[in-house]
Amino acid sequence: GKRVLHAKHYGIRREQLHSGALKVCDRLQDAGYEAYVVGGAVRDLLLGKHPKDFDVATSATPEQVKHVFHRARIIGRRFRIVHVPFWDQGQEEIIEVTTFRGASDAPTDETGRILRDNVYGNIEEDAARRDFTVNALYYDPSREEILDFHHGVDDLQHRKLAMIGDPALRYREDPVRMLRAIRLSAKLGLTITPATRKPIDDHARLLENIPSARLFDEMMKLLFSGKAWDCLMALRADGLHRPLFPLLDKLISDEQTRTFLQRALESTDRRIAEDKPVSAGFLFASLLWHEVEALWRKKTSAGEYPVPALVDAMNQVEATVAKRLAIPNRYGAAMKEIWLLQPRFEQRVGQRPFRLLEQARFRAAYDFLMLRAECGLVEQELAQWWTQFLHVDGDTRLALIAGVP
Ligand code: ATP
Ligand code: MG
Repeated sequence: GKRVLHAKHYGIRREQLHSGALKVCDRLQDAGYEAYVVGGAVRDLLLGKHPKDFDVATSATPEQVKHVFHRARIIGRRFRIVHVPFWDQGQEEIIEVTTFRGASDAPTDETGRILRDNVYGNIEEDAARRDFTVNALYYDPSREEILDFHHGVDDLQHRKLAMIGDPALRYREDPVRMLRAIRLSAKLGLTITPATRKPIDDHARLLENIPSARLFDEMMKLLFSGKAWDCLMALRADGLHRPLFPLLDKLISDEQTRTFLQRALESTDRRIAEDKPVSAGFLFASLLWHEVEALWRKKTSAGEYPVPALVDAMNQVEATVAKRLAIPNRYGAAMKEIWLLQPRFEQRVGQRPFRLLEQARFRAAYDFLMLRAECGLVEQELAQWWTQFLHVDGDTRLALIAGVP
């Protein structure tokens, strides 16, 4: 049954919420609708973590929300949601507003996957449509209360991640929930309950039916969760990596490529912990490099010129991967530039090292080279030479070029 809790007893104060989220709730309530901050943000505040984003759930339909906020945009196909933009310290912040979902039978495909879920309902029904108990928490900023429909607060206090309803059915409705279980448990330090874990094995294959763009979005969330390596290892333990990233098996069966990937991901995790920017291009370059390099080597051994052979290898790997993960071009382009600059580090004659320095992606490519060298995937000598080259003045640079072995 529903529980109403005083948010203050749990250390949550109104001021901790994003001012935009508060404004959305206040104005929707003033207009006569119900409106709550919901999901991850409430969960994270209860855990004493800083929420990444703030979502609002309301009884208002998307059109009614748009009527209250003229700047709002209605978006989404599977789920129609409303984006309300706010300016916060010169940056646009989006508050995502969703209308309460209803419990009525949404249309499914033959595997039980929900195709559209746009039937509106009340807050109880909305809570039951959410994935985990800890995500079905609603915070009412005007009353400073938390509405808890599935004892999510208890579960959170016991560090439990439990699916609402019958887990197997909920995975069939949306197989991505399996990936969310793994990610949220790694990211938040929650233990997946046995009942929620058990059906994963049997249902892992259903991820094959998920569109590659959605899988890519989930992969991004995983890689940028701050626990990327743990997430990948947990995925693998449950066989969930196969529909998503089957290359992982081969990658980690080899000591060097395993170390390479682990270091790349752990350095990303560290940067996220330090609030530094991270590059998706670099991450995908790391995830797929092993495959590209192996193919590249095969082609050059067969007599192809190095650069065209690399371009061929890149395109081939990208095409294979695209079937599972649709890597958007803005990341794909950075990934490929990082790869393409790798053979150019070997060319240490005349003006070439100077020209390489001027490349827009030099820094990322250099970091990538260092990572390769650390794991013995490229000569130490080459990495050391470049580090020296970077840190000395012009005359010494010429001397370094003259002294290349
Ligand atoms: P994160 O910290 O990654 O933002 P989150 O739980 O907030 O985690 P979102 O993707 O922002 O994840 O989703 C917001 C809320 O929507 C969730 O807390 C959950 O209640 C609900 N939700 C998201 N995805 C699903 C899903 N596949 N099935 C059911 N409910 C979902
Ligand atoms: Mg969220």
